[in-house]
Amino acid sequence: MQETIESLLQENAALKSALTDLKKNKHELELVIENTGVGIWDWNVQTGETIFNERWANIIGYTLAELGELSIKTWLKFAHPDDLQESERLLKAHWSGESEYYLFESRMKHKKGHWIWVYDTGRVVEWESEGVPKRMIGTHLDITDKKVAIANLDAANKQLKKLSYIDALTQIPNRRAYEEKIKTEISVARRANSFLAILMIDIDNFKEFNDTYGHDKGDEVLLQVSQLIKTALPRKTDFVARYGGEEIAIILPFTQLNGAINIAKTIVEQVFSSAIEHQHSCYDKSVTVSVGVACSDSSYEKLMHFADEALYEAKRKGRNRYEVHTTETIT
Ligand code: GH3
Ligand code: MG
Ligand code: MG
Repeated sequence: MQETIESLLQENAALKSALTDLKKNKHELELVIENTGVGIWDWNVQTGETIFNERWANIIGYTLAELGELSIKTWLKFAHPDDLQESERLLKAHWSGESEYYLFESRMKHKKGHWIWVYDTGRVVEWESEGVPKRMIGTHLDITDKKVAIANLDAANKQLKKLSYIDALTQIPNRRAYEEKIKTEISVARRANSFLAILMIDIDNFKEFNDTYGHDKGDEVLLQVSQLIKTALPRKTDFVARYGGEEIAIILPFTQLNGAINIAKTIVEQVFSSAIEHQHSCYDKSVTVSVGVACSDSSYEKLMHFADEALYEAKRKGRNRYEVHTTETIT
């Protein structure tokens, strides 16, 4: 009897000590939660009853008291309607055992009317039966600042990428952009079994222009001629780029030789008729261009080579004109 009492007293003391430890741990846990600013939700999936901590309400600008009676409907009221479907999909994936946790970056309506981003995590802690959850516990972390920073970074990167494809002087795409584009267009033409034409344009006697009027004036003319050529192109899919110093290249997708010739002709005429003064020009003391035209061929290198040859021919024949390389079909 004495032994039994003693053992009961010992057990009682051990239980008391365990309880003190638990209380201490709970208090520490609460401190951690408070300091990390994490919102907590505890959801009875079967009844809908849900408990939130004060921080959960604070993240969306409220106090718990202001939210009134709490249930899963409280969350539904503030969740972004466009996020509900994905949330349901992720919950089901977790319930079926496909994922260990429910993890979702979603939007919540703030008291002030704007949307904020939360990192929502959760896990089933009690099961009703296999695959049927009884209780889930999870957290909300405000990640709005991070999301805004990422969105700003994405926008800046897009802008940078765009800038790296644009020539600063002429404001048209640069050689890098051209080389990417032509390769894409050649494979599109090959797949569609269609035609593709390119024009290589070079300003005539431009060295003498610089020598006479100065490099800055030369820059102005380069910009003017580039913009003029750009506006002379009839279709949205036509692509113009600064290929080199005073060389401009054009890609004309789905265009046969006749169409390309028409454009080459227009460009030669328009540059000439814009009457930009050039003392040493053989044509009315005006700036002129020469153009080489080539139509579809089997490779980028060949196509460029043919356009170059045609351009050289135009220069040889006296400038202020276009010349055409004979057609080959993409195979
Ligand atoms: P051609 O009729 O045979 O084309 O004669 P060209 O004088 O135009 O040809 P050349 O290749 O001898 O000279 C090209 C000139 O283009 C030389 C260079 O100073 C000028 N140039 C190239 N890039 C620029 C630029 O960005 N700005 C200016 N102002 N001039 C440039
Ligand atoms: Mg030139
Ligand atoms: Mg040149």
